[in-house]
Amino acid sequence: MSANFKARDMAEQQIADLDAQLLRRKLRTTESPCDTKASVGERELKAFCSNDYLGLANHPKLVAALTEGAKLYGVGSGASHLISGHSIAHDLLEKKLAACEEKHIPNARALFFSTGYLANINAITGLARLAEQGQASIYSAKLNHASLIDGVRLASSQTKAKVTLFDHQKLVSLEESLKQDIHSLKLIVVDGVFSMDGDIAPVEKLLHIAEQYDALLMVDDAHGFGVLGDQGHGILEQAGVHSERIIYVGTLGKAAGVSGAFICATAPFIEWLIQKGRPYIYSTATPPAIAHTLLSSLELIKGDEGIARRKKLNELIQIWHDEMTFQIWEKTPSSTPIQPVILGSNANALAAARLLDEAGYWIPAIRPPTVPVGSSRLRITFSANHSADDLRELIQTLKMIEKTIESQG
Ligand SMILES: *Cc1c(COP(=O)(O)O)cnc(C)c1O
Repeated sequence: MSANFKARDMAEQQIADLDAQLLRRKLRTTESPCDTKASVGERELKAFCSNDYLGLANHPKLVAALTEGAKLYGVGSGASHLISGHSIAHDLLEKKLAACEEKHIPNARALFFSTGYLANINAITGLARLAEQGQASIYSAKLNHASLIDGVRLASSQTKAKVTLFDHQKLVSLEESLKQDIHSLKLIVVDGVFSMDGDIAPVEKLLHIAEQYDALLMVDDAHGFGVLGDQGHGILEQAGVHSERIIYVGTLGKAAGVSGAFICATAPFIEWLIQKGRPYIYSTATPPAIAHTLLSSLELIKGDEGIARRKKLNELIQIWHDEMTFQIWEKTPSSTPIQPVILGSNANALAAARLLDEAGYWIPAIRPPTVPVGSSRLRITFSANHSADDLRELIQTLKMIEKTIESQG
């Protein structure tokens, strides 16, 4: 037996370092379905932290659809899509997903994935491989989600793609770089709704730039699909844009209430990603029962119930902007159900999350590397299942917590 076990010592030391920097993350286990109240241990917390914006994650129609899906298709797909895992349920879902975006993407086709993380990796690495080695150039917004960042990094290591970061609120530098770019494939990658800030990407302007410089525009609408647009079909519907250059990614585990994601693009791109997308090719297909459940979720999203739930969300957002006044802390102008309160230091964000917890709320502190250093925050999210009174109680609690923390200096 060797006394040395260096890897374990390193793990323990690294974790101790995270603790010391107030950067250690902790798991909390819930015992209830995802909703506005969460059972955690012996306690029931008022949750303002999930991405279940429409409140569909525990919807009786979707619970029934999953049960029905399991009866029709069993529980496992058994193989990847290209082997034998591609079910009629996946096929129907992909057709419906394409129909959601067909007004915005000519000749639209959709490809379903088990997660948004995989869909993003697949889209970016696959598209970069359209070009010869060293001939792709990727423009990635600085505040993009980690899955986009990882997709860009992987594409760059696989294909020697050139990577340029840009500020999505100031597009001048993006344009300047594109003007001089002589790579054969140019891909702009951006969050539709920025996940930690709640602001919406200027897709119209970005598309205009993409068209001017022969680039593709990939939009990750993880927080927009289901939420934005009259029918809930996301940022493209809201912006009213239309182009073959758009590569759209929507996720289905947030507002859609279930799980999974899709890439929607004009048919040749989707066909290429089926041929060359390694995550698509080498991963087992999502259970068809999930795809079956999502068919019902899409019906809810675009129908009267979805319309009513989006209206409710917008009322909550309005109440927040009208009634949430801080003495020192600041809100952002976000018009989505993501409402951050930026507190700066890890210590302040943790203290606020702890006081919220004592008051019966579940709103975690979001710290680096999820957000830039010095911008630790509370990330407050609304669900259509919250009532106006739920939100008003939270607003009162936050005002008291601000006083407590600021008076302690
Ligand atoms: C959550 C999220 C993803 C990942 O989607 P999953 O389905 O949860 O893997 C991708 N992009 C953004 C912007 C997200 O917020």
